[in-house]
Amino acid sequence: MNYFSKKYDNLTPYTPGEQPQDKKYIKLNTNESPFPPSPFSQRLVREYVGDIYLYSDPTVNKLVKVASEKFGVNEDEILFTNGSDEALYYAMLAFCDDSIGAAFPDVTYGFYKVLGDLTNTDCKEIPVKDDLSIDPDDYKNLNRTIFIANPNAQTGLYLTNDEIEDIVKNNKENVVIVDEAYIDFGNESAIPLTKKYENLLVTQTFSKSRSLAGGRLGFAIGNKSLINNLNTLKYSMNPYNVNTMTMYAGIGALIDEDYFKKNCETIVKSRKYLKENLENLGFEVTNSCSNFVLARTAKKSGSDLYKELKEKGILVRYLGDERIKDYVRITVGSKEQLDALLKAIGEIL
Ligand SMILES: *Cc1c(COP(=O)(O)O)cnc(C)c1O
Repeated sequence: MNYFSKKYDNLTPYTPGEQPQDKKYIKLNTNESPFPPSPFSQRLVREYVGDIYLYSDPTVNKLVKVASEKFGVNEDEILFTNGSDEALYYAMLAFCDDSIGAAFPDVTYGFYKVLGDLTNTDCKEIPVKDDLSIDPDDYKNLNRTIFIANPNAQTGLYLTNDEIEDIVKNNKENVVIVDEAYIDFGNESAIPLTKKYENLLVTQTFSKSRSLAGGRLGFAIGNKSLINNLNTLKYSMNPYNVNTMTMYAGIGALIDEDYFKKNCETIVKSRKYLKENLENLGFEVTNSCSNFVLARTAKKSGSDLYKELKEKGILVRYLGDERIKDYVRITVGSKEQLDALLKAIGEIL
């Protein structure tokens, strides 16, 4: 007997990157940080772990206070979530319905389509250009809720704040969600634009640049009324969405600014190193502004390269989507990890 509601017949769940537990891999497949959480984060978590017999603070007030100061917004303009995936889910529920569809690039974070299908939202997937970049002109007056990852997922390509602003101001009737999961690796956030545009919602995560992927922490920043909408949904589904240990880990990560900055700078340097070395091996590599690169070579298919690297104990991501099926996506790991990767690729080719 199948008890699963028919409304899910067309739902294909998101496939997360492998988190294998069988043996130790050099893990360059899910864009985590190669660095541990800041020592201050770790200390706060240890100090407050005894508090988890109580429910967490649903307003995450201590974290909101630190964050609102750090990002220069009011406390009612920010909402913390269980990973930014949760913020994206709330946004899809809040700003899309039978009459308002969603729009996003055809090459981007796969979760948008999954959320669209889950919530029965009509999704328009707008092709990126041949060079995999987004043309901002394709996003004007769409009459849809727009999701743009900036830098874009999979490609790492970045739209300037002027280009983002152009999209936001040409969609005044709809919400534009700018997913800044990768913004900290050398680029400028659109958060200041939320002061000017009531239809802009920016999301960020602590999973990539702040070394807290397993802590599950993300947030959305926008006009008070957008944040209110998201809160209505949060309090209808998961009022205690951010757990106490994660709240303290987040506070530590925000306060320990030096540690965060140093790690981001290291990633940016290593990204350049990885790109140059892959190019020397004959790869074509996107001009990524994030903590991964997307690379292909005529000498080996993406799927074979993925498989052969895995046999050598190195995990990269093979996405397999039609437009990028020749490519593998490689997280910018530590220098040692990247050297092991480059050596393995040299051997394979
Ligand atoms: C990793 C990622 C997310 C989700 O991050 P979590 O905060 O771990 O849920 C969202 N968007 C993009 C583009 C990502 O790459």
